[in-house]
Amino acid sequence: MNRENTNRQTAKPAIRIGHGFDSHEFHDGIQLKIGGVVLAHHRGLGGHSDGDVLLHAITDALLGAVAAPDIGALFPPSDPKWKGADSAVFLREALQRVEHAGYAVANIDSSLILAAPKIGPHAGKIRDRVAELLGVPADCVGLKAKTPEGLNLDNTAIAHVVVLIERTDRT
Ligand SMILES: [Zn+2]
Repeated sequence: MNRENTNRQTAKPAIRIGHGFDSHEFHDGIQLKIGGVVLAHHRGLGGHSDGDVLLHAITDALLGAVAAPDIGALFPPSDPKWKGADSAVFLREALQRVEHAGYAVANIDSSLILAAPKIGPHAGKIRDRVAELLGVPADCVGLKAKTPEGLNLDNTAIAHVVVLIERTDRT
């Protein structure tokens, strides 16, 4: 192995990426929370904690960026402690792991896929809240909403997220 290869393997990368995916089923009579924002709707997302599909995907993207265990491993859905929990708790833990690894969030981009409610009117509020949780300006949070056309998934909310993190200890 030559010197150049050795250096490449040991040097800490200046940037890293992470990807997160999540899905939850809609159920009647529960609160709908997306990106840490409560939305007025007759149905909410069931499953793990408060069912915040977007915060879960962001959490997994952050954890993935530093090759940490995923959200299900750190916060098992089977543990009653996390029933109804605020998903911001998971995101903060993931962010701490990113910071401890010597990185900070540069920007994230996300796609939300759900039949209803329309996200457009709430997008600004969701971006602001996610930016606040991540400690980045709102223009570093991309949010696109799509309807699940042709997927036959009108009872499901899906989130895809990618995150870019950059090294904070560059000398
Ligand atoms: Zn989830």
